[in-house]
Amino acid sequence: MNYLDILRDKFKIEQFRGVQKEVLDALLEGRSVFSLMPTGTGKSLCYQMMAFLKPVDQMVLVVSPLIALMQDQVLKAKNLGLKAACINSSLSLSERGSVQKKIANHEIDILFVTPERFKKSEFLEVLSKVQVSLFVVDEAHCASLWGHDFRPEYSKLNQFIQLCHNPPVLALTATATPVVQIEVCKILGLNYPGAMILGGIERPNLAIQVSDTYGETEKFELMFKKLQEFGTDSGIIYFSLIHTLEKFSQFLFSKKIHHTKYHGDLPGNVRRRHQNDFISGKDQLILATPAFGLGVDKANIRFVFHTEIPSTLEAYFQEIGRGGRDGLPAQAILFYDQEDVSIQMQFLDWAYPDEAFIRKVYDLIQTYPAKVSVDGFDFLREQMVFKNKRDYRVNSAVSILARWGNLEEDETPFGFKTAEPLSNDLFSQENQSALKKEHQKKLLEILRWAQNADDCRLNQIYKYFGHQHNSDCGICDVCLNAH
Ligand code: ADP
Ligand code: MG
Repeated sequence: MNYLDILRDKFKIEQFRGVQKEVLDALLEGRSVFSLMPTGTGKSLCYQMMAFLKPVDQMVLVVSPLIALMQDQVLKAKNLGLKAACINSSLSLSERGSVQKKIANHEIDILFVTPERFKKSEFLEVLSKVQVSLFVVDEAHCASLWGHDFRPEYSKLNQFIQLCHNPPVLALTATATPVVQIEVCKILGLNYPGAMILGGIERPNLAIQVSDTYGETEKFELMFKKLQEFGTDSGIIYFSLIHTLEKFSQFLFSKKIHHTKYHGDLPGNVRRRHQNDFISGKDQLILATPAFGLGVDKANIRFVFHTEIPSTLEAYFQEIGRGGRDGLPAQAILFYDQEDVSIQMQFLDWAYPDEAFIRKVYDLIQTYPAKVSVDGFDFLREQMVFKNKRDYRVNSAVSILARWGNLEEDETPFGFKTAEPLSNDLFSQENQSALKKEHQKKLLEILRWAQNADDCRLNQIYKYFGHQHNSDCGICDVCLNAH
């Protein structure tokens, strides 16, 4: 079967979208590709299609950043009729054994793993028994230190590509500035700009609005008013601080507005349940911290609100990109209060805790596993005496440790347990103070963006990503005011 037949018969889709065809043609010629495609346009289809087209005894390997996403990716591939599986720490020993046996027997078309998996010798062993036809790096911006979601294990992927005997590579992302594109190509051993297939980043159905507010009370009231305009439509409200999220949740509760929540203080299993309830449509409104949403494919999100200014334009564009994936209009509103900028400055300090702090958190988790599994963050915070009650360096330290693979997810209320001992390398390799400086520059950029009411909001973002676009969007607050 050629890919057009498969598109119709398996995907039930009549035609390719954006640069899907171009990407597939390049891959079928055996070339490696780094493709930038707008959020929600169908990056997954490229590697799913390749899983249909590969030789029967080979396998497509997809590296993906989050365990939480994998179950969904596996399910979608299975629904298409592919033999799909994932391997991660949430599988039981026997489940893992069964998947590994299938891989060795060439009974898997497409396998999803996190990059941490390559550290396990049993995985490398089974990998040596099958030929990888295509090495896919999903959310490839995670490989760059200068991207907005750096994961250290991603920066070692070239090594793993070689381990798989250098198959063609397909790197995919929706958000990468030119600097990030170049760095990712270097890390993955791809040719820049030769490997690039730019599908653009345009999301013309997103209507952006920056709404000036003063003080929390006014802001909450305004958000409530806007919420009512959307009735029972599906939407996400992002918060920088869990504290504010909870406060707004109370406020909505008093107004009898049903909603669900997603943030780091909720136990892992609760967080996952809330995410699934939102994706399935059981809940229409979710209040979330930025931890929510990477890879979430829900078509009908009609609005994405930001209660505070996010810390980078990359993060902002990725977050609002979850709206309107069905192509229908979606509104993005940033409730902007100059006062919040100081929160972001403080946030930056907390987001990059120093070495001693990270070590102490790790030691506590290691020394008191029982206490931590039950009382989690409360216990940790209690131990790390704080002046400011909202100080969430503990949360930052935990997510840094999880990123580094020193903690791994488990089913306890806390959601993590220690995995690998802390190495000194990580601290020197990931220079926290240089990262912090770069992050400060990015914060300045998004502030400039929020305050610039002279140029089309969307065009300013395109420009930031090095993307040329000539006409204004016509639907952002700046464009509407100009008319
Ligand atoms: P992303 O690019 O953000 O990773 P996904 O791969 O999750 O997006 O795809 C988003 C949705 O678009 C999926 O539901 C998928 O079935 C759909 N889709 C992909 N390609 C096409 C196409 N050519 N025509 C119509 N729908 C498509
Ligand atoms: Mg995706």
